[in-house]
Amino acid sequence: MATNIALLPGDGIGPEVMSAAIGVMKHVAERFNMEIETTEGLMGGCSYEEHGTPLTDETIEMCKRSDVVLLGAVGGYKWESLEHHLKPEAALLKLRKELGLFTNIRPAKVYPSFVNSSSLKEEVILGTDFVVFRELTGGIYFGKPSGYDENKGWNTMVYEKHEIERIARQAFEVARKRKKKLTSVDKANVLEVSQFWRKVVEEVSKDYPDVEVNNMYVDNTAMQVVRDPRQFDVIVTSNLFGDIISDIAGMITGSLGMLPSASIGEKYALYEPVHGSAPDIAGQNKANPIAMIASVAMMFDLSFGMTKAAQLIDKAIEKTLEHGYRTVDINFDNGNLVSTTKMAQMILDNFEIIYHEEHLGVFTL
Ligand code: NAD
Repeated sequence: MATNIALLPGDGIGPEVMSAAIGVMKHVAERFNMEIETTEGLMGGCSYEEHGTPLTDETIEMCKRSDVVLLGAVGGYKWESLEHHLKPEAALLKLRKELGLFTNIRPAKVYPSFVNSSSLKEEVILGTDFVVFRELTGGIYFGKPSGYDENKGWNTMVYEKHEIERIARQAFEVARKRKKKLTSVDKANVLEVSQFWRKVVEEVSKDYPDVEVNNMYVDNTAMQVVRDPRQFDVIVTSNLFGDIISDIAGMITGSLGMLPSASIGEKYALYEPVHGSAPDIAGQNKANPIAMIASVAMMFDLSFGMTKAAQLIDKAIEKTLEHGYRTVDINFDNGNLVSTTKMAQMILDNFEIIYHEEHLGVFTL
């Protein structure tokens, strides 16, 4: 039976990077004998123009009928002054809620070609490759009571056991497929909710004796991520701490145009680049498609268990960068400046080369 993928290209550069990534996705699926069907919907400003709302019930239903969702990006200057619930960005929150996407996963990987563009020294970041699991639908962003009056403001950080268990399990499963090391980040020296978080993670860890677990306070983690990022494999943490740690982790790896992400729940999964719709370069075939293509690689790995396909896509991206191909946002070293479509084509060509080399058992450096 064909796998159904819902496509939401969105606004600005969304459709450009989506179309680049679909080309790669379809090719890889064919190589791995996977039958794919796609359905496309409107979301964001384009949906507002057509239907007067940034996300229709029909689009939500289309996503729920699909095996996974791929999202480009939404938003733009044109819709900035709309009422809050009509803004393209409101659709993002609504879709995440509707699909129950409680974990946000962001890899932090340094490509050797970019070691010199980071604000950190080469010897510190070379070889960095870890993943942050951030809890997305609970914690202090949603806890009640919350509010403020003239004299005080307050929020509540609360986690129920099942909320911690489910994200911990996802993180352990991925750690098991990687370097088998998991760091749970909390503030257990001060917060009771963190002491509870730590206790639940420790309980879950009993089902994963092959994964080494350590607990780290969030302030120390922020320091360690920039001091020695190579020590990490999988980080799992709450909503607030994950918000901060994943942004720090993102920046050590270079440009926004390179960062993929996955948001996963019990039933549904959504893959999207971390960047927005970049209206300043939209429609010019200039956008970097790598974040979107790397999101497709995450989809193959996490939703379909096709780790090999994901690894080959990542290698193809790496090889393309090693050969000096650059889009505007990553042209730190005056490389060979190419368009969105050309970058995607080069990644596809390199995928083919690597696929055939590996298929034929040719050893490559
Ligand atoms: P942005 O990520 O769109 O752009 C920030 C800067 O990075 C811009 O200079 C842009 O040209 C550049 N950039 C981003 N992605 C790039 C890529 N793939 N290739 C080359 N350059 C790239 O952030 P912003 O400017 O703050 O927001 C623009 C719009 O996007 C706003 O409406 C915002 O609300 C929306 N937004 C949407 C999402 C999403 O859809 N998930 C996320 C963030 C922002």
